[in-house]
Parts: sequence; structure tokens; C-alpha cells
Amino acid sequence: MGNYRHWKKAFYKNVFGPDIWTIKICNEKPNQMGWIPFTQRDAFGEYKCPDCPNSWKSIHSVIEFYIQLTNRQGRVMMNPLGQQCKNCIDQYIKPKMPNRIIRIIVQNLIKTIRKKCYGEYVPQLDPADDGQSGHGPHIKELCQACRLGICKAKAFNSHHFRHITVNIEEKESKTQLNSFQQQDSCNFKACFCACFFAIIVLICFIWIMKYNFV
Ligand SMILES: [Zn+2]
Ligand SMILES: [Zn+2]
Repeated sequence: MGNYRHWKKAFYKNVFGPDIWTIKICNEKPNQMGWIPFTQRDAFGEYKCPDCPNSWKSIHSVIEFYIQLTNRQGRVMMNPLGQQCKNCIDQYIKPKMPNRIIRIIVQNLIKTIRKKCYGEYVPQLDPADDGQSGHGPHIKELCQACRLGICKAKAFNSHHFRHITVNIEEKESKTQLNSFQQQDSCNFKACFCACFFAIIVLICFIWIMKYNFV
């Protein structure tokens, strides 16, 4: 997550109420019952692959929060979902977010806590896409949230690419097959001509021999 301390700082600075609240990072949904989920979708995030020079930005980063208030102790578990590098595809890389985006998401989280835990009326949640329109197609296969079925981004399905590639490959192999077949047919013709010529020579030879003996 890289800038986790910025999340803690923004949360403790803004959270308020009669109870004590803590926030922790987690890598999956908590097992126990009684957690209120809040999913922040379409957030701006930056990614850097640790294994190659590739880096990218996305406005479809997803963070899952789980909220629980028991015995005047409030707890938030935070699970940022990752995206895979298109070159390496071996691990989910967690997004890094600028402080202005962290502040917006934390405000959305606190609004959700006020609404769900204290029954308050809260204004609408704010968009966290940084006012940006897009950074290329959102590839479903590389997005952890898409795989979990919780991403609402209009996904670009890379199967289209695969189908096109497969079709071209199939076409190429068929063309190759045709040329092989054509080549085979040429070989057959050449072989037939040679045999025919050999038979003619043989007949002439037999005829000459016969004529000489007579
Ligand atoms: Zn990579
Ligand atoms: Zn997605």
C-alpha cells in the first residue's frame, strides 16, 4: 500500500463521535460476522510493478472497508484490491493514492460510519476519481475487484484480442496448409512425369534391342 500512514493520519484526524475508533489494513474479508461493508469504487490510483519498469494509473481502483462498532469500540479493516501488471501477471499490486484522494475516501468512509453506526443523515459520497476521465481500457482479467465481481468499471474484455489473434493464426496456418498441399501436388506431377519418361525410355530400349537381335 506504500502510503498506509497517510490513511491512518487522515482517519484519526477526521473521525469523531462518542466512541474510540481504530483503522487497520487487511488482505481479505474478516471471518467473523457483524462487519458492515463499505466499498469505495472508481478511485484514482497509481501502480508500479516491482518486477519490471511498467507503471500505470487507473480511475477504477477499489478499496473494501469493513466497519464494526461493539462495546463503544469502533474498528475499521481496510482491504485495498490490486491490479496485475500486463507484462508479469503474477501478483496483485496495491494502488498508491495521492493525499487528496486519500482525504476524499476517508471522508466517504466517515460519512458511512455516521450513517450506518449512528443513524445520522449524511450528504452524498464524493467521487474519488480525481476528475480524470480515463487511462486506457480497463482490462477485466487484470483487476482483482473484477475477478471478485465487485468492480463496476466498464470492462474491456481482452478475449476480443485473443479471438482476433486466434483467427489470424488459424488463417495463417490454413494458408500454410494450402501451400503445403500445392507443393505436394507439384511433387506428384513431377514424379508422374519422371515415371512416364522412364517408361518411354524403357520401351524404346526394349524395341531397339529387339530390332538388333532380329
Ligand atoms: Zn511487470
Ligand atoms: Zn475492475
